Amino acid sequence: MEKPEFKSSFVYRYPPSKLMPSLKPEELYRDLKNSVPEKLALYIHIPFCKSNCIYCHYFKIVNPRKPEIQEYLAALKKEIDFYSEIFAKTEIESVFFGGGTPTILDANDLGGLLGHCIQKFRIKNSAEISFEASPETLSEEKLRKLAEAGFNRISLGVQSFDDEINAFSSRKHSKKQVLDSFNWARSAGFENINLDLLYGLPKQTMETWRNSLDSVMGLDPESVTVAELQVMDSASVSKIDKNFLPGRKDRIEMYYYAIEKLVETGLKQTFPYQFVKGGKEFRFLENYWENGEFIGIGASSLSFVAGWDYNNAFPLENYLKLMKEHGLSASTGKKLSKKETAIREIVLGLKLAGVNRTQNGVNMGSIENKYDINFTENFGRVLEGLKKRGLMEEENGIIFLSRKGLSQYDEIAKEFFSKEVKENLF
Ligand code: SF4
Repeated sequence: MEKPEFKSSFVYRYPPSKLMPSLKPEELYRDLKNSVPEKLALYIHIPFCKSNCIYCHYFKIVNPRKPEIQEYLAALKKEIDFYSEIFAKTEIESVFFGGGTPTILDANDLGGLLGHCIQKFRIKNSAEISFEASPETLSEEKLRKLAEAGFNRISLGVQSFDDEINAFSSRKHSKKQVLDSFNWARSAGFENINLDLLYGLPKQTMETWRNSLDSVMGLDPESVTVAELQVMDSASVSKIDKNFLPGRKDRIEMYYYAIEKLVETGLKQTFPYQFVKGGKEFRFLENYWENGEFIGIGASSLSFVAGWDYNNAFPLENYLKLMKEHGLSASTGKKLSKKETAIREIVLGLKLAGVNRTQNGVNMGSIENKYDINFTENFGRVLEGLKKRGLMEEENGIIFLSRKGLSQYDEIAKEFFSKEVKENLF
């Protein structure tokens, strides 16, 4: 199984987004009220950015106007009010502000939004409260205010430590801004800092990649994310001269080099693309890959709760319109059947994998018990094929990605909902 040379899509749900139908809000609302979970994770989406990175294929608004931001914040607060009424007794164990670029908002707006969540939801005192940040949007004072507002984890979008590579991708920050931001975050009291890196960037070479990893390790962050650039048709990177992009062999080399380096320095690989210090696991995402429930607030956000897997509306005008009309902006998705949920749990559980992670993968017995299906009958052929190719392993009833399989997670996951599997299962 070889990845297509420049195309690959990230698998993060089942059924895939393109198969999700329009939903009936009243049906969702009824199930939300009748199926209140004891715990939840909370995601807040800020779809604003300072520039359009050439590899970006997400919905976002570049350089939003102030009134547009204020209108969006008011809608987010309304959505927070809506969910907090339903989930008044539910404990929130982690909160994640993602984007976009949440730190494009000023500290008072971002802190105010978190304050609103704290006031309305039952957020545990020990909750992980994270935000994504881009270095050019930070200052020492802003980080201090965000720490005071209650944020305790920051995920800094570095991508590369090479200014030329970042500039070519239309990133607006320099290496100096990354170093300053990191030091300001530390002095503001952040004891959990994640640095995001991308490999496969235009103009990136093995040498610049090694330098980026060295720079990261020199900072001694609590975690590092090492993601592969996805070249999607809708992003402008798909139109550049392909000679600028590292080939498949180089990208594989970059990935395994990162594993070796980061693990050598004592980090634990918790997901194929994430490395953490013990005790600093990214709880929001652990919950996600464990098929835990969460709600997403904001345009295009994803939620998985009460058996429903659904998306909020986007672009902004659609989100705002639904929020005005219904106070709920869910627009596509469905209540999953038992079998669909089983596939979802397998596909997501495969992400619980790393060369030195202690508990890997998917427990076949637990899938059988929970979803009343025979694992071998339904997935045995797929699993055997993957094992023969050295991409997956099995131990004590648990299946997990092999070292070789780590770099091909998305393709491996898709095998578990291949046409053959679905014909047999449904
Ligand atoms: S910061 Fe993220 S969401 Fe914004 S343009 Fe860049 S890749 Fe896209």
